[in-house]
Amino acid sequence: MSSIFTKIVEGEIPARVVYEDETTMAFLDANPLAPGHTLVVPKAEYERLNDVPPDVAADLYATLHELVPAVEEAVDADATTVAFNNGEAAGQEVPHVHGHIVPRFEGDGGGPIHAIAPGSPDLSDDELDGIADEIESRA
Ligand code: AMP
Repeated sequence: MSSIFTKIVEGEIPARVVYEDETTMAFLDANPLAPGHTLVVPKAEYERLNDVPPDVAADLYATLHELVPAVEEAVDADATTVAFNNGEAAGQEVPHVHGHIVPRFEGDGGGPIHAIAPGSPDLSDDELDGIADEIESRA
């Protein structure tokens, strides 16, 4: 079954589309966290970031790169939080990769990305070295 974002890409359901090219599209979030909250998607349906092939990932980043200043200027934002919920456990509800561009304003009361975690784990130097090695060996 097609994701709701594929239905938007294919014009089956309406959206406030703000950008479109051959491989990517951007539209306003239907339940905005701030005025101008925009979603950037690959037109083809991939569930998670690591499913996106490198050429499409490059296109997706290019669209984010272009849209971030456009969104900020359009709503006179002071900054933006740009983020992907990557997987259900991280809060991803729509299984079609999408980057959120959330405009931020001085004193808006929102938190930084660090606010997503309940706290910082207490990790020893050995544990940190082990984790770094595990990641490095796979990168
Ligand atoms: P996530 O939790 O990262 O999967 O975010 C999904 C986002 O999609 C939420 O912010 C929703 O408000 C948004 N959304 C869901 N349906 C639509 C829709 N039809 N048009 C625009 N945005 C939508």
